[in-house]
Amino acid sequence: MSAVLTASGIWKAFGDKEVLRGISLELEANEVVALIGPSGSGKSTLLRCLNLLEPIDDGQILLGGDDISDPRVDADGVRARFGVVFQHYNLFPHLSVLDNVTLAARRVHRMPRQEAEDRAMRWLERIGLADKAREHPDRLSGGQQQRAAIARAIMTDPEVLLLDEITSALDPELVGEVLDLVRELASDGATILMATHEMAFARDVAHRVLFLDGGVVVEEGPARELFAAPREPRTREFLARLS
Ligand code: ADP
Ligand code: MG
Repeated sequence: MSAVLTASGIWKAFGDKEVLRGISLELEANEVVALIGPSGSGKSTLLRCLNLLEPIDDGQILLGGDDISDPRVDADGVRARFGVVFQHYNLFPHLSVLDNVTLAARRVHRMPRQEAEDRAMRWLERIGLADKAREHPDRLSGGQQQRAAIARAIMTDPEVLLLDEITSALDPELVGEVLDLVRELASDGATILMATHEMAFARDVAHRVLFLDGGVVVEEGPARELFAAPREPRTREFLARLS
């Protein structure tokens, strides 16, 4: 197995608040890893640090063997190697769905328009949104918007897909269609690191789970084991509170 993404000893503070306190993780090719943990435990900050949206204070991040935490690195070039989907505000309201899905491919990856649109349309067809390509995002349901955001993130063949609580702003009846798409990408072999509070989903889809609390990885293990038999008291408390 080869590590696609390796983070070692990541520290990050906002002012005097230490948010990440020496986090290490490794993501193998085709692996799906879930980050779980209470609100404020540092999941989003970790994801943002990994794709250089936030500078780290200490530690090292390797992507495909390249040290992307080196300050001399081209941060935009690095970000283009990740696909990212957040909880909110993923699509530009003034652009069509097709333009949203192709924008990064064209601007950042310099993909020719025709190729970008062909790829985008194949994804939109796959996710059942081809007929919405010329619409603006506000004509789509929240679940459709998130699926379009996932299509945008995946259509440039990112080395790693980072997903940050992508269903937590959705009405409950729309969650399933988004999770089903992630499940499909996972079974197609995408390499995914996802912060999620959907525990059943994490258990079923993730290969490994990391439980974060207070900016440290308190426990990690194969998803089924960690949920069935958490070893650490803090993990047990967290999981017990949810059920
Ligand atoms: P999670 O995603 O697990 O809920 P976050 O990474 O969003 O956790 O937040 C971890 C901690 O960092 C929280 O205490 C949050 O308030 C703080 N934090 C996150 N981003 C910032 C920021 N830009 N400035 C100051 N504090 C922040
Ligand atoms: Mg978060």
